Amino acid sequence: MNNRLTCEQVSALLNFYIEDSLSSKLKEYVRQHLENCPECMEKFISMQNMINKFMEIENEEIENPYITKQYKDFKSNLSAYVDNELDNQDSIKIKKIAISNPLARQDLENIYTFKRLLHSSFQKTKNEMKNDYSKFTLNMLKHENPAEKRVDPFYKLTAAFFIMVSCIVAGVIKLLYF
Ligand SMILES: [Zn+2]
Repeated sequence: MNNRLTCEQVSALLNFYIEDSLSSKLKEYVRQHLENCPECMEKFISMQNMINKFMEIENEEIENPYITKQYKDFKSNLSAYVDNELDNQDSIKIKKIAISNPLARQDLENIYTFKRLLHSSFQKTKNEMKNDYSKFTLNMLKHENPAEKRVDPFYKLTAAFFIMVSCIVAGVIKLLYF
């Protein structure tokens, strides 16, 4: 196999893979990677489950008895709740709805799972960037070589001083002996 994708590339493509919007070639590479990489496969399955659940909720919206006005309020405040942006009273309300309404509870679980997924891939990218950055810094140091720069003028001064002293000594010797 020549066209192996890395795990990072696959996780960037997963969304499109699930939406089925990749070219057939790329789709095949992702499929091959998933077959051989349990870690990406797990990510793929949880992402797909989550998307399916959201779709189900949308489809069931008309007949599901749990889709109440309260639940709709819950949904519109959910991301603010997860990000700790609600005041105490509102977050208690959200908690109560999550306890009494299984749909709301499921949404809350999904959003936390999703956040964890996002966070872990963000952490991964951050670590890679850190690695790249330290490599970059190392390279810069190698090329700049500050130790050499610091020593250089010192040698020049020493050499100049030595030449001056030699000239004086030569002059004195000349005066004394010739
Ligand atoms: Zn992988």
